[in-house]
Amino acid sequence: METLKQSEMKTKEEKQIGYFGEFGGQFVPPHLAEKLNHLYDVFLQYKDDEDFKKEYIDLLKNYVGRPSPLYKAENLSKIIGSTIYLKREDLNHTGSHKINNTIGQILLAKRMGATEIIAETGAGQHGLATATAAALMGIKCKVFMGKVDTERQKMNVQRIELLGAEVITATQGSATLKDAVDMALGYYVENPNVYYLLGSAVGPHPYPLIVRYFQSIISKEMKQQLMEIEGRLPDSVLACIGGGSNAIGAFNEFLDEKVELHAAEGAGESMELGKTAATLTLGKKGIFQGAFSLCLMDENNEPVDSKSIAAGLDYPGIGPEHAYLKGIDRVNYHPITDDEAVEAYQLLSKTEGIIPAIESAHAVALALKILKNKNQLAVINLSGRGDKDVSRI
Ligand SMILES: *Cc1c(COP(=O)(O)O)cnc(C)c1O
Repeated sequence: METLKQSEMKTKEEKQIGYFGEFGGQFVPPHLAEKLNHLYDVFLQYKDDEDFKKEYIDLLKNYVGRPSPLYKAENLSKIIGSTIYLKREDLNHTGSHKINNTIGQILLAKRMGATEIIAETGAGQHGLATATAAALMGIKCKVFMGKVDTERQKMNVQRIELLGAEVITATQGSATLKDAVDMALGYYVENPNVYYLLGSAVGPHPYPLIVRYFQSIISKEMKQQLMEIEGRLPDSVLACIGGGSNAIGAFNEFLDEKVELHAAEGAGESMELGKTAATLTLGKKGIFQGAFSLCLMDENNEPVDSKSIAAGLDYPGIGPEHAYLKGIDRVNYHPITDDEAVEAYQLLSKTEGIIPAIESAHAVALALKILKNKNQLAVINLSGRGDKDVSRI
């Protein structure tokens, strides 16, 4: 993707919008910046609008199935030696937290008069959630996907097409997610009535703010539910982290509270470049896909392909707010290996009868590691369900 150097940003004021400390911003060509700034204006106009919120909340309730339950996992609690609640995002329609964001953004797209929705997808989960929201709203939808990914994820390609969306295959470069993003951005810039529905709390301003806003429903509910059941806030909240959307959604309402926040990133096979997706632990500062953040880079500061057993965590970048929260020591980021995640995947299935997404299993593995006999009250955000992973694991 075409990017600008930080020194090319026009004014000081522009620099401050969409920044989390030194991280974030909007490193894109001027014609794309114009579209993104218009999107930000529309977002500001509607985020506190009563009709907009009512429509969003109604859909979350009756279409997605929210509020998702906060389930006390007694068997897992006994094994760990802390009281563990699971926030059941796996029970949402389409099987993960991603639908919270796609429903929210498609309502923005509708208000903007968009005639077509586009999205990029790696494993197909975000493509699926976007195609679902587009079908619901009766808006045309194109999902950009690397050729390699369309072959690895045949089932999701078929589901996306069944929902009436078109899958556009990216064949350039490594023909994976990065190339799908480039192709989607090219299409976005050339077509005025297209809405680009980004799937995680990453990319240029205003996407990290928009995605955080729609995913914050997770921590809003968590807080309310735990107050009702236990009469107090948790000692800690845990989530897995790919781009960072379910984690920021699970953390947002606790950022100003005395609550420990822990995120599990995909360590992959081992903590070496090329074998890992542990961006927060090993990443370097730089501009990647439109924002200044941390990124897995080689000695020439070129992005390096990430690797994780969990497709949703297999990303060399990270949302800018997480880079900031790491810098100020507000959130603790821990690498969890593929093997640790698989063990937790099997353990949760056997002890609670809940098959977690392999992404979410990273957060369970983290709880097994850091909450052992701590006697804490903790919530794990179970970001998705694991049917998709059964045959591979
Ligand atoms: C996509 C995905 C993730 C990772 O994305 P974030 O933006 O970091 O939340 C985690 N869990 C599941 C189930 C996913 O589908």
